[in-house]
Amino acid sequence: MAMLRLHINQLRDDPTSTQGTLQPEDPAFEGLGLRLLGPVQVDGVLQRAGDGDFLWRGHVRARFEGECRRCVTDVTLDLDDDVDALFSADPDLVEDPSVYPLEAGADVIDVTPAVREELVLRVSAFPLCRPDCKGLCAKCGADLNAGPCSCVAVGSTN
Ligand SMILES: [Zn+2]
Ligand SMILES: [Zn+2]
Repeated sequence: MAMLRLHINQLRDDPTSTQGTLQPEDPAFEGLGLRLLGPVQVDGVLQRAGDGDFLWRGHVRARFEGECRRCVTDVTLDLDDDVDALFSADPDLVEDPSVYPLEAGADVIDVTPAVREELVLRVSAFPLCRPDCKGLCAKCGADLNAGPCSCVAVGSTN
């Protein structure tokens, strides 16, 4: 059982270790539009941050597959990121996108939403297959990384 959901009443003042593995089919990853190639490894520590707030300093490792923005080649991306997430029941902080709301009286903190969010950020910033990817020809669809297509002689439209 993944230790990614912690009971608040078991948290002491010292940071508490969080560690777990989320399988690609975990409901937390539904609708992300990415293909996870293996389990997502999560670790980190959760600690009280005063006034009913809790700070999670986590680390997320995952490998997933997507398409290059320009040439739609499959690209494998390794995610290996630190994640800081604040969990708070303070209504004034709810607007802050980096704060995860805790319901008043909640007795469990689940860090999975912060893991999901990290993946979302990575997907939306999905990189190119390589920094100088030439993409596909807008006219004939040829992969310009493989060399110029026959449209080039006619001249660029932009
Ligand atoms: Zn590409
Ligand atoms: Zn072409």
